[in-house]
Order: sequence, then C-alpha cells, then structure tokens
Amino acid sequence: MFAPIRLRSTEALTSHLSVTLEGDAHSVALRRSPRARRMTLRLRNASRDFVLTLPQNVTLAVARDFLERQKGWMSERLRRLPATVALAPGAIIPLRGVAHRVVHRPAGLRDVTIEASGEGGGPFLNLCVSGPQAHVPRLLLAYLKREAQRDLDAAVRFHASKIGKPVKRVTIRDTTSRWGSCSSTGNLNFSWRLVFAPAYVLDYLAAHEVAHLLHMDHSPRFWKVAHQLSSDVDRAEAWLKTQGAKLHHIGE
Ligand SMILES: [Zn+2]
Repeated sequence: MFAPIRLRSTEALTSHLSVTLEGDAHSVALRRSPRARRMTLRLRNASRDFVLTLPQNVTLAVARDFLERQKGWMSERLRRLPATVALAPGAIIPLRGVAHRVVHRPAGLRDVTIEASGEGGGPFLNLCVSGPQAHVPRLLLAYLKREAQRDLDAAVRFHASKIGKPVKRVTIRDTTSRWGSCSSTGNLNFSWRLVFAPAYVLDYLAAHEVAHLLHMDHSPRFWKVAHQLSSDVDRAEAWLKTQGAKLHHIGE
C-alpha cells in the first residue's frame, strides 16, 4: 500500500506541459523533486515561463489538473511583468496586429521601411531601421508614434464627419489607465500603443471617443452612437479586455 506510484516511462521523461492562457500557449517546465512534498508553481521573470515542481509520485494528469486550476493566477502574474519586448533588432513586434521583425540596416538614411521577407521559413514582414544601431530604438519609437498619430487622425476625422462634428485636436500619449479620452473642449487623446492592436481595435477606439463629442457619458444614447459608427464595438472591447495589457509590454 505504501509503494510509490510507478510512473510510465514517458511520464518520467516529460519535461514540459503547455497551458493556454488568454489564447496564447505557455510552456511550463516540470521538475521532479524527491524532497518536494507538494506541487509548487513559480514564474521565471526573465524567460516569462513557469516552473512546476512535482513530488516524485505525482502523475501528469494530476499536474495538468493543478495547472488548470492555476490559470487565473498565472495570467495575473504574467500581466504584472514589466516591459520585455525591446524596440531593438531581432524583436518581433505587432504593427496593426501583424507580427513584424525588427531588422537593422546600417547603411541608408535614418528611416523605417517595411519589407516582405522569406527568411526563417515563411512570409514575414520586416521593419527595417536604417542608421546607427544605437539609434534604432529611438527611430523606431518615433516611427510607431507617427504611424499611430496618422491612423488615429484619419479614423477620428472619418467618424467625426459622419456625425457632423468638428475635431479640434488629436493627441497621442503614453497612458496606462485608458486607451482614449475626450475632453469637454473636444480634444481627443489616445495611447500611441494602439498602433500595435489590430486595425479594427484602433478604429473602434476612434469611433468611441468621437461618440463622446455627442454624449460625455456611457449612457445608452452614447452606446447607440458608438454602434452606429463602429460595427466592431463588442469584438474590439473583448480584444482590449483580454489582449490589451500586452501592448504595455512593448518598448519604452
Ligand atoms: Zn468612453
């Protein structure tokens, strides 16, 4: 009765499990420890992955079950990690929701261009930054903010014209508490990080703030206008709720 549970050999050798959190697969490294008396889960900050320490006799099924129950805690811990995607060569960053690889081109003028690439076994988009390597993060940040400003200007003007409202100023900022705001004087502010979100999300945020030019609240009258301007209200709100925090982990 007191013999340890015999693990199938494949179980003893399995070193990782995968957990899906908010649509993304995350690797959990398994560590068997003869001294462990219970399962312990921790997050390695640097590699942004988890380690699960298991007593020798715990089966994979039990470990999986345990991870399933820890999903909320795991998501929360990941959310609290500081920025990790640097605006530097080699980084993969989403531009309008599409993955782009940052490539440094030492020759050429200081600018940023997008090129399709077949490298790495498939179609890929490169965000090519010219100029001295030390300037890559600054040039890229300036480029991303310019693109954000341009997209938001266009979307705001488009939606404002539909309700016949003039727009005073569209300003981009690095806000963490909200994605957009509308002042009582009719100035609209947005987070430049919306340039990383899928285009329909940025477009919805523009429509949302424009709708505030008519109603400075979140009343049913406001939502009626928002829905008239954007057909993606629910989809975009859901995206921001589940994916939005990630946008703060890129750059700066
Ligand atoms: Zn609002």
